[in-house]
Amino acid sequence: MTTLADPVPGGRPGDVERATALSGELAGRGVHGVVLAYVDTAGIGRVKTVPTARLASAAAWGVGMSPVFDTFLANDSIVTTDVLGSPDGDLRLYPDLDRLVVLAGQPGWAWAPVDRVTQDGERHPGCTRTFLRRIVTEAAGRHGLTFKAAIEIEWTVARGDAPGDAFVPATTGPAYGATRQIELGDYTADLLSACAAQGVDVEQVHPEYAAGQFEVSVGAVDPVAAADRSVLVRQTVRAVAQRHGLRVSFAPAVVGRGVGNGGHVHLSAWRAGANLHAGGEGRYGMTAEAESFTAGILAHLPALTAVTAPSPASHLRLRPSQWAGVFTAWGRETRETALRVVTGTTGLRDRAANLEIKPVDLAANPYLAIGSLIAAGLDGLTSAAALPDETTGDPAHLSEAEAEARGVRRLPDSLERAVEEFRDDDVLRTALGPVLADAVIAVRRGEQECVAGLDDDQVAAAYRWTY
Ligand code: GLU
Ligand code: MG
Repeated sequence: MTTLADPVPGGRPGDVERATALSGELAGRGVHGVVLAYVDTAGIGRVKTVPTARLASAAAWGVGMSPVFDTFLANDSIVTTDVLGSPDGDLRLYPDLDRLVVLAGQPGWAWAPVDRVTQDGERHPGCTRTFLRRIVTEAAGRHGLTFKAAIEIEWTVARGDAPGDAFVPATTGPAYGATRQIELGDYTADLLSACAAQGVDVEQVHPEYAAGQFEVSVGAVDPVAAADRSVLVRQTVRAVAQRHGLRVSFAPAVVGRGVGNGGHVHLSAWRAGANLHAGGEGRYGMTAEAESFTAGILAHLPALTAVTAPSPASHLRLRPSQWAGVFTAWGRETRETALRVVTGTTGLRDRAANLEIKPVDLAANPYLAIGSLIAAGLDGLTSAAALPDETTGDPAHLSEAEAEARGVRRLPDSLERAVEEFRDDDVLRTALGPVLADAVIAVRRGEQECVAGLDDDQVAAAYRWTY
């Protein structure tokens, strides 16, 4: 379980003693430094590191870092909002000791996600991990609900010796093909070993569709842990790749055309230990609440896209008939609707049933993405929203009249339109709070400006190695 309590100056009760003991233990295991990790609004992982001996100090007082990164763009230029983006001020990064792991792919290093607190000991309103902790805490308090989540990770493996920023796939062979598994077998075996050593329960690793593409899926855990894991697993995928002379990209699209890298979110709501997505009277075993939760996400999807698919490169991936789910529709095990109802197989349904949200990529900040999806679902649940009819097959083939009759809409086809939808969505903006919501709008607009006049290949190239 994730610690949901806010960090406090002086340290959460017991944290300093624990960090002191941990730093001794880590030093004994040859760990020299601890990576303190968070993700900015543009979805870039940013870090500070401290020597292992400073861990207790970090647990007590945090580590300084400017709030300016909340409005950094992927290319490290800076935009501003009313309150963010100025050179003034400082924040304290507090590691979550429950999540501290020794990095198996980076000998000498440990890793922990952080929450960011002001110098006055207050929550930083731009901290996305704090946002997700708040959403989860409120859902438990107001609705008696808990959640399980997992983020699938697709990535592209490239040759590390390719010239400049060129993309040369590190493996050949057909999609899902044995050839790829053989060619990159040493790499993926080391990845499995590193994940296991870090306590991450991998469910599958497989060669995916696009050139050089692989996917790893991990077990579902509480939402904050799921977001933390997504960051940790990507750190591991990259670190292990580097030791094999490979270069990886989690960018939504590494080339201008074709299937991209997704970061599908699996989400289920639970009450008193029971999965609301199984054993109910609704469709495919959903309870009435699970249907309404699903309807809530469906209704907010166009605006959610600004959070879940936040880069201009996201819109190279978000195209029909590429399994990215670009239509506001749901279906059982349907790979072209934005929402895929996963029932699990007979015998496992009470544990396995969940909702898969497909128009999500790995440029998304995972804390913002999961928190926003939960907020949208809860809006549906509290208003007892009705889930429309299921869609089967590829919604791209529906006639205009059929699509309209079913309420099936194409998701925004540009970042600009997604931002307009987000700006008009009071539920989401309220859930994020004004500081984070304004940061989302400013950063997306900034990204859009960065790619003005670029063609698809140039947009893909601009983000290829940033994620
Ligand atoms: N690569 C696809 C995407 O961009 C997903 C493929 C799959 O269904 O696993 O979302
Ligand atoms: Mg996949």
